[in-house]
Amino acid sequence: MTASAVRQIIISGAGVAGLTAALALAAKGFEIIIFEKAPRLSEVGAGLQLAPNATRLLTRLGVLDRLLPQAVTPDALYLQDGARGTTLLRMALGDAAETRWHAPYLVCHRADLQAALIAAVHAHPAISIRLGSNVISHEAGKDGATVRIDAGDRIEEHHGTMLLACDGVWSARRAAVEHDRSAAFTGYIAWRASLAAEALPEALRAALPEVNSVSAWLGRGVHFIVYPVKAGKFFNFVAITKGRDPGREWSSRGDSLALAAAFSGWHTAIHAVIGAAAEQWTFWPLFQIDRPRFLLNERTVLLGDAAHAMTPFAAQGAAMAIEDACALAAALGGDAVDWPAALSRFNEERLARIASVARRGSLNRFAYHAAGPLALGRNMLLRSRPPERFIADLDWLYGYDGTGFI
Ligand SMILES: Cc1cc2nc3c(=O)[nH]c(=O)nc-3n(C[C@H](O)[C@H](O)[C@H](O)COP(=O)(O)OP(=O)(O)OC[C@H]3O[C@@H](n4cnc5c(N)ncnc54)[C@H](O)[C@@H]3O)c2cc1C
Repeated sequence: MTASAVRQIIISGAGVAGLTAALALAAKGFEIIIFEKAPRLSEVGAGLQLAPNATRLLTRLGVLDRLLPQAVTPDALYLQDGARGTTLLRMALGDAAETRWHAPYLVCHRADLQAALIAAVHAHPAISIRLGSNVISHEAGKDGATVRIDAGDRIEEHHGTMLLACDGVWSARRAAVEHDRSAAFTGYIAWRASLAAEALPEALRAALPEVNSVSAWLGRGVHFIVYPVKAGKFFNFVAITKGRDPGREWSSRGDSLALAAAFSGWHTAIHAVIGAAAEQWTFWPLFQIDRPRFLLNERTVLLGDAAHAMTPFAAQGAAMAIEDACALAAALGGDAVDWPAALSRFNEERLARIASVARRGSLNRFAYHAAGPLALGRNMLLRSRPPERFIADLDWLYGYDGTGFI
């Protein structure tokens, strides 16, 4: 590939992976066209955690400043005993995170991250985006990739040097190759709700060690996460329970009585939240991809959830999509790059990184959901080991700057 060759890249999906890939590749001189099947990018989703490994890349992409007014920098992360409400561990974030990992630890609403990315995309002359455009098929060969788009009233064909399938956990591009056996239901459901800060139940306010914090409340087979979003004006709640697969839905309406039953025996603060947000609970099934894969063929690359959807126990879904995008741009960004070799290196490095993050997620799940003697042992360890040791254990994850994207 030489600098003079056509460098147009087609992206399927305007989620975190697709939008970040567009910005990162445009920064390396590519022309980008994004096709998104949704007719508009609406305010769906809930909170996301953005650890320093993601925010350092968002800074380089010029996105962080757009996001900061809506995001929150929590002062600490707490692990709480779900039944008693006692603190098992406090890890300082805020300035401490920024000093240690040279980038902030943020929490935000998914829609605010998407809006910040979209604003940067609109400001970039080399990127165009087409909404209401469903990518229905693709073919790829040595010369590039061709996609067919269902634009509602017509079918179009587009050709580029490469297709990036950033179409999420239920990726149609991946399914077309793997015959729909890619993503499997994990048996877990993520319940979500939010409340305005002034509507936060007093019982929770009193039980939170610090209001401006992320707190993960732990218990047998379930956990509950609380943190502020939207510049602190709202609080986001995520409850993870076992459950049946309700189908490929991002927001089925949830029954708060069923949720309360899953948290039976838990601290009153959590029940106060479940009750206060009773009308709002939605839930989505957690699917994961057991065999992460980036390369579909020589000119089609999967990124983000389409490549490696994982459970949210390490809170790294969006961060991994951002890392993938920047790593790919760094791999393809030079003037005279041997694409097959660059893609093969990218694939190896990303698979290794994803495997480490997935292992960390499994460890968190095991620890968060422990019961009986295992939970007692966990609590003793969390209380007795110095917090600095837990923080140092995260250096490989949050301090990571190995994408090569500058
Ligand atoms: C509606 C929605 C709400 C979410 N809410 C949360 C949340 O609250 N908290 C959280 O942690 N994670 C949430 N996620 C998941 C989170 O965004 C991802 O795990 C992470 O950001 C990785 O993003 P991604 O870009 O790989 O995938 P996604 O964010 O799933 O984005 C995929 C995009 O591809 C588009 N698409 C799919 N098929 C096609 C096609 N054939 N043609 C064109 N476009 C296509 C989709 O419409 C979507 O915009 C949500 C995802 C979605 C789609």
